[in-house]
Amino acid sequence: MEEDRDVIKLNNVSKEYTVGDIKTFALKNISLEIKRGETVCILGQSGAGKTTLLNILGGMEKATQGEISFFGENISQYTEIELMKYRRNKVGFIFQFYNLMQNLTAIENIELATEICKDALDPKEILESVGLKDKLNNFPAQLSGGEQQRVSIARAIAKNPDIILCDEPTGALDFDTAKLVIKLLIDFGKKFNKTLIIVTHNQLISLVCEKVIHIKNGTIDKLVYNSKIEDVDNLIW
Ligand code: ADP
Repeated sequence: MEEDRDVIKLNNVSKEYTVGDIKTFALKNISLEIKRGETVCILGQSGAGKTTLLNILGGMEKATQGEISFFGENISQYTEIELMKYRRNKVGFIFQFYNLMQNLTAIENIELATEICKDALDPKEILESVGLKDKLNNFPAQLSGGEQQRVSIARAIAKNPDIILCDEPTGALDFDTAKLVIKLLIDFGKKFNKTLIIVTHNQLISLVCEKVIHIKNGTIDKLVYNSKIEDVDNLIW
């Protein structure tokens, strides 16, 4: 169906972990839809299942049950090799602690990611667009936390993926830097019609997103469409 190409659909997705004799449902029967270009916030307390949901969307974990259709493709049946290609070409990841290679410069960190992608953008141009024109050749240790996160954003964007998945992207940043990072992410998503999914426990970030998925004990507690989307500049932490 034509319209399926613009929607990510989860149908009764569950994830069960077994450690020793103990089984834990990290996710239970999650069904939801996310549109192309949508900005989504996944909110919930620690242990609620947010990261598990993000990892399943990103092809880093497989659901134990249910179906996931990613813009018309059923990724729940993917083999490990298909999942690797999916992660490589379709998904950009941003983590709380940046996850940059310490022995590579800013631009080399991006080149490392783009070299193996199909439709990558120019690493230098993207680094410049996140405000790091003068720091292309700095190593991560020569950059502030905010600058390192901008490199990691540039790395995700430069892959030119369909979705950008962010796990607590501002968790290690001060207020002003956090706002800058969120603004960069939202502006990029809107400009290129990319789906942006932000996992956080910070309620403020939910105000600048179109859709808010509240996760509790592995289930969707509440799904909210913001009628008014706050401007990032107006946020007071
Ligand atoms: P959140 O991101 O909301 O903090 P997680 O998705 O990390 O929550 O975890 C949800 C639940 O699944 C927790 O109870 C956690 O302990 C459990 N869990 C997550 N990953 C694993 C794993 N690899 N093995 C076993 N249990 C796990």
